[in-house]
Amino acid sequence: MKRVGVLTSGGDAPGMNAAIRAVTRKCIYHNLEVYGIKNGYQGLIDGSIEKLEIGSVGDIIQRGGTKLFSARCEEFKTDEGQQKGIDQLNKFGIEGLIVIGGDGSFRGAQMLTRKGFPCIGVPATIDNDIAGTDFTIGFDTALNTIIEAIDKIRDTATSHERTYVIEVMGRDAGDLALWSGLAGGAESILIPEEQDDLEDVVVRLRRGQERGKKHSIIILAEGVGSGIEFGKRIKEATNLETRVTVLGHIQRGGPPTASDRVLASRLGAKAVDMLLAGKAGRMVGLERNELVDHSLETVFSSKHKTNLDMYSLSKELSI
Ligand code: ADP
Repeated sequence: MKRVGVLTSGGDAPGMNAAIRAVTRKCIYHNLEVYGIKNGYQGLIDGSIEKLEIGSVGDIIQRGGTKLFSARCEEFKTDEGQQKGIDQLNKFGIEGLIVIGGDGSFRGAQMLTRKGFPCIGVPATIDNDIAGTDFTIGFDTALNTIIEAIDKIRDTATSHERTYVIEVMGRDAGDLALWSGLAGGAESILIPEEQDDLEDVVVRLRRGQERGKKHSIIILAEGVGSGIEFGKRIKEATNLETRVTVLGHIQRGGPPTASDRVLASRLGAKAVDMLLAGKAGRMVGLERNELVDHSLETVFSSKHKTNLDMYSLSKELSI
């Protein structure tokens, strides 16, 4: 293999840049040429492709977002779209592709691999919802952004003796809510992996009230439902002054944490090694702090396991 392509696709995540840097530098280290494809699969179809040099990825390890931009591309879900992509890759003499993104992006990578073009996936999404890796790139940064928000909201919640419902991202996964709720000392955490238990939330709020607690923080994963609706239900059930904050896209931005930069560097570099070893249709991951890889088939057919012991722990600690 002489030429490798790299793209970022789907929802952006802090640390994608560190992964692009790792792929690029590791390729150059191995005397491979590396080409950056802009705007995900859309740019692949359009031929928006340029050579990356050592300096092209300088000064990006600390930046959120993605230097290669990201996009969603419906056309790539079709055979014709995928063939156009392969034609472009052939035109540029690219022999292997590294796809940095989430589950949807990996489905594109799998289609290319099935059509004979070797791809490796690098998991990057704030949601931490991908099987085959304990952590995805961007999760730790988003988590820290949420913690900062919880700490700030807690100050005003205390001053005004209010109950706050904070809705966090995560799509169908509860990891962001669970980890941020545990780290932020939330009174209740609602995640899609566990049944929405309004009664339990209300009991906890009342118990806190009785012992003179001035504020309460409830973390709700977006996969459970609307924070605004949940806030209304709490207010109706308790008559406590309840406010709702939907954190939104602030969770997707910002400089990546050290942990995400290190994860991105390790996964990005390993993806290059995998291509060189002749692997294809696989995703690199980190399990128990060891680099691993799994077939994309396995990744799609398994479900990311949210650590439900942490859920029980959060209940024990927020009595
Ligand atoms: P994420 O990678 O963050 O999960 P999406 O689900 O939006 O993001 O997927 C990103 C892109 O991956 C889509 O816009 C599309 O171009 C491509 N993609 C998604 N699913 C498929 C599929 N089944 N086949 C081919 N390409 C796909």
